[in-house]
Order: sequence, then C-alpha cells, then structure tokens
Amino acid sequence: MITVDRFLRYEELTSSLHEVAAAYPNLVAVSSIGNSHEGRDIWLTTITDSATGPHDEKPAQWIDANIHSVELTASASALNLINRLTAGFGEDPIVTTALRTRTFYIVARVNPDGAEWAMADSPRFRRSSVRAWPWSDAHRSPGLDRMDLDGDGAIRTMRIVDPNGGWVCNPEEPRQMILAPIDGTDAQRYRLLDEGVVQDYDGFTVPTPRPPQGLDMNRNYPAGWGTNVTGSGDYPGSEPEIAALLKAMRARPNICGFNAYHTSGGILLRPSSTKPDSALAPLDLWTYGQLGKRCTELSSYPVHSVFEDFTWDKSDTMAGASDDWAFEHLGVYSWTTEYWDLIHAATGERSSTDIWFLGPTAAQELACLRWIDTNHPDHYAPWTPFEHPQLGPLEIGGWDWLYTWTNPPLPCLAAEIAPHADFAIFQALASPAIEILQAKATRIGEDAWLVETGIANTGWLPTTVTEHARKQHLVLPLVAEITGADVVGGTARRELGQLSGRSALQFSGTSDGTPDRVLARWTVRATPGTSVDVTARHPRGGVAMATIELV
Ligand SMILES: [Zn+2]
Repeated sequence: MITVDRFLRYEELTSSLHEVAAAYPNLVAVSSIGNSHEGRDIWLTTITDSATGPHDEKPAQWIDANIHSVELTASASALNLINRLTAGFGEDPIVTTALRTRTFYIVARVNPDGAEWAMADSPRFRRSSVRAWPWSDAHRSPGLDRMDLDGDGAIRTMRIVDPNGGWVCNPEEPRQMILAPIDGTDAQRYRLLDEGVVQDYDGFTVPTPRPPQGLDMNRNYPAGWGTNVTGSGDYPGSEPEIAALLKAMRARPNICGFNAYHTSGGILLRPSSTKPDSALAPLDLWTYGQLGKRCTELSSYPVHSVFEDFTWDKSDTMAGASDDWAFEHLGVYSWTTEYWDLIHAATGERSSTDIWFLGPTAAQELACLRWIDTNHPDHYAPWTPFEHPQLGPLEIGGWDWLYTWTNPPLPCLAAEIAPHADFAIFQALASPAIEILQAKATRIGEDAWLVETGIANTGWLPTTVTEHARKQHLVLPLVAEITGADVVGGTARRELGQLSGRSALQFSGTSDGTPDRVLARWTVRATPGTSVDVTARHPRGGVAMATIELV
C-alpha cells in the first residue's frame, strides 16, 4: 500500500508507484507520459484486470492531481484510489467488477517540480510550474518574495505595527487579526504581509508581484484560452506538463470520465468556467446532477458550476482549465475536486461560495483557530518578535497555511480523501459498455448462413457519453466486423451508430423501446463446421467478441 497519511516527495512517489506495479503485475502498469520543466517523469498509472482485456479496450476514468504545487492532498487522493483498486480487487465486488470491465488512468502528480519546491526543507510556494514566466530570465520585479524567514519550516504571516494598517487584534482573541472598523479605531493597527524578504526595497513601499514563476498550468488548456487570464502561458498547451497530458488523453479515446484533483474548498466543481448553465445542453446539466449527487452523498461536498457560483465578475472568466477542456473537447463529464474545507472541519457547516472572493468571516476564522488550538496546535504559531532584514522589528506568526487552509492537518488527510475513491469507481461504472447479448447463425442454403449478433450498451451513459459530444460529433460510431467467412451482399465491417444507455430512460415516456440495442446481420458463405468471429468495437464502450459455429 502506498502511504497516504502524509505527502510524498517525488522520489518516494516514484518508487511507490513502481512497487505497486511490481506487486500487481496483472492490474497495474506505470509509464511516463512526458517530462516536467525540470525533467522529472510524469507518471501515468494504468489499472485494469488484464485477464479480461487490455486497458485500451475498456471504458476508462481519467484522474489527474496536483497541477497546483501546494495542493498535495490531491496527490494523496489519487494514490489512495490506486490503493483502493489494488487492495479491493478480488475482495470488494464493486472494485472487482470495475477492474474487470473498466480502466483507470491516474496521474498522481501532474506537477512534480512545483510540489518538490513546496515540500523542500526551505519551502517555496508557487502556483504551478517552476518555469520562469513571463520573463524567461526569471527577472524578479521589486517586492515581497515569499519564503520561510525564521526557519521554522512554514511560511506564515508577518505583522507590522502601522498607524494606517488595515488590521487590529480581536479583543476576544488577541492572536486573531480582524479588519479595522471603517470609521477608525484607537486600537493598535497592523499591516499583514506574507512571510518573506523584500527585493529592492525602496524604504517605503512593499509591492506584491507575482513570483518570477508566474504560470498557472490550469489556465494553459486549449479551452477558451486567452492571454487575459493570469498565468495562461505562451499558447495553449505551451507547458510540457500540459502538452504531455493532452497527448496522453487524446491517445486514449476510451476515456469516458475525467476528474482533476485540487485543493481546497470541500467542493466538486463542474463546467463551465466560462459560460452560464443556459449554454449547456439540458441533458448534460441533468446528467451532471445525477452523477454529482453521488459525490455529495459520499463526501458531503456540494457541486457547483464554476461560472455560476464561483465567478464574481462574469466578464472576467477563468478560461483554459482542464475540466472545461475535457467537457468541451473530449465530450466527457468532467470535474474538479477541491479537497478540504477547514471551516467545515471546525464548524460542521460548508462554507459559502463567497469565500473564494472574500475569504472567511472573522467568526469563521475564529472558529477555525479554536479548532486548530484543540486539535492541531502546532499549525498556528504565536506572534513572535523578529528582526526583519529590510522592514526592521516585526512579528512572525499565525497560520501554517499549507497544513490548515490549503491542505488538512495530516491526521485528517486519510478520512478526507477516502470517499472520493468510491466516487471515481462510481463514475467509471456509469460509463457505456458494449456487450454482445445474442449471437446466432441460421443456415439458409447449402453453404450459406445468416449470422445475427445482438449488440447492446449495458452501461448507464450513452456511447457518446455527453449530449455535447453527440451534437458535436466528437465520438466515432460502433463498428461490428465479422471474420472467418465470405460475406455476401455487403461488407464485413458495419458502422452501427451510437447506442443509448439507461441515463435518459425517464425522458422516454412509458415505453422504453430498445435504443440501447442494435442487431448486426451478415449473410456469409462457408463450409459447414466453420466458425466465424464477430467483434463489436466502440471507442468509448470497449470491445466485445463472439464466436459462432456454422453448423
Ligand atoms: Zn488548484
């Protein structure tokens, strides 16, 4: 089992994945899909029961994680899914069925470089890539450079006495900084800055520029990509990590579902990030609702549209994200899982969608502080005097952001991620699945037979997966082919279109019909005793085969 109650550095992550592949050779394969900016392999773990067919002949669920450097819980959750699948095979009937009939593609760490920086003894937090951008010479603008200055291994907050500061101590709890009243106060006021040094300090101003590594790889996908979006990169797919992911996903047309693991928020996000729900097909919205509510049942994470619920300014949207690309270009139901909500841990209440723009309220932050004091006191440090090299005497203290707001304190990690393995398995099992339910041959002449094959989609989703994919013709049709005898009056290979699943059954009225079925028929000439093989193949529904004796 891979360790998932703490965060793994790259070397341990790599060796753990290879150990799992060695321990479960019939289930697990680990391969590199490309290299990060600093040259680390990006590992893809492919999991399926190879005894029931190769990975690319089964519908697949794609999971990737940790595109953002500090969102390490995402990696732990991807690794936990690997554990769940390998340990559950042959033990847990749902896992066994899932691996016999489906494939899981798991990239446990999209951004190994950024994660290494975040986990270094002297950590550096970057949004995503460590590639210098937009200045390729890593030109640093003057201002605050976030780092662990006092050497306690965490990047916290500096508070500086400032008569024009925006913060005062909460009289109820003096460690907590709250906003100074609008109409002023006699209380001591402070300015708060991230722990760090000030480059090129002019003695008065402290700008807070983006770091020289200013990319956001989750804005680099070719979905509404634009240079107006912060950190979007040089062009869509310009980053080696994203190019590798795009190539790997495009090479796997059997992908039927997608989930990108992130932190934080304790929410399941779905497309669109750039369009209102009214621009999505109603059937896709309905299906998103059906699938998403399972995640809410399992984990209590609510489901939100990024555009509808997390876009403060509707004219300034978050384009170039992976889930939008997966929905719009692959045509699959895609999600972004944002793990962990400290406010929920502290209060039992899910935080409102405003938190992305406004941060926690003073009351919420206080509840979190009380909860941390009781449960994980090391993660909030007392304000301690520090002689700053540029700013002079100040105090460093407050939240250890990495293990409070951004990721859970480690003792909470395993419980936080556990339900999401079940959701991944659930979504995999919702995918279409091609089966041959009936195969027969009727002799119609001395050396002639009518071969009939009844093919069905036994999955929940249609073979197109999404309505968007159907409308945009993103998915190739079902193909059935007969071999072993001469076909008369037609072709051995038949294109049979798309098949419904059960997902839209309640829209069909009182009579179901058989939109999930198709009958493929051939007239063949052969000598008695010959057997013919029929193969039914769909890029998303997998491959089914039948052998029929001509007697
Ligand atoms: Zn993220």
